[in-house]
Amino acid sequence: MIDRILLQKEAAALGVPLDETALEQFDRYSAELLRVNEYLNLTAITEPTEVLYKHWIDSLTILRYIEPKAGARFIDVGTGAGFPGVALLIARPDLHVTLLDSTRKKLTFIAQTLETIGLSAQTLHMRAEEAGQTAAYREQFDFVTARAVANLRELCEYCLPFLKVGGTFVAMKSARSEEEIAEAQNAIHLLGGRIEAVQTFIVPNAGERTLIFLKKISQTPPKYPRPSAKIAKQPIR
Ligand code: SAM
Repeated sequence: MIDRILLQKEAAALGVPLDETALEQFDRYSAELLRVNEYLNLTAITEPTEVLYKHWIDSLTILRYIEPKAGARFIDVGTGAGFPGVALLIARPDLHVTLLDSTRKKLTFIAQTLETIGLSAQTLHMRAEEAGQTAAYREQFDFVTARAVANLRELCEYCLPFLKVGGTFVAMKSARSEEEIAEAQNAIHLLGGRIEAVQTFIVPNAGERTLIFLKKISQTPPKYPRPSAKIAKQPIR
């Protein structure tokens, strides 16, 4: 299905070593993704080489900048068909991974496919703003990721409540994000976060990408996250 040697080489260029087990898991997950995508809308990408670069390598860029401690708890918000969450789980099977999405069919695909490749993660069918108000998930995670889910201001309200103080939120963006970052400053402050770093780079065969790293420096006030209609209609200014 995918070119394993190419995947191994591109991941190594990010400082991410992939062993034979991981390569096999990436390969089998890719095959299932494209097979099931023929009747269930999981991804706009239909070519194995595009899956390699635009899903797997793009997702793995996070590990170039952060090295989660063994056993760290991590949640991928709006994971869709598992990006970046499944990529991080395959590369780091020691992590405790939760994959959250409001679309059940995508989570069913993920759970079934992870089982066939011998991995496990918690799949959570909830809206982020509901899970963020649930004790079992609020301020429970060391890392939060989100790719292509919402603009940074809304995303901070969805994602920062999940983090323990001291934890890191990685927002994955497809292009330079200066305006989005400026617009989100008040929300970040109010929700207990601080921007630690912004990295812009090129993913081969995919284009420019920006990773925004935020640290949780104080607890999120209990009223956040608000219900989704409020988040959309009255963004934090
Ligand atoms: N992260 C994946 C990726 O990059 O391929 C999926 C991106 S897709 C464009 C956005 C996903 O976020 C969808 O699967 C959608 O169901 C989910 N989503 C959007 N808002 C959400 C919310 N408030 N709570 C949970 N999931 C949400």
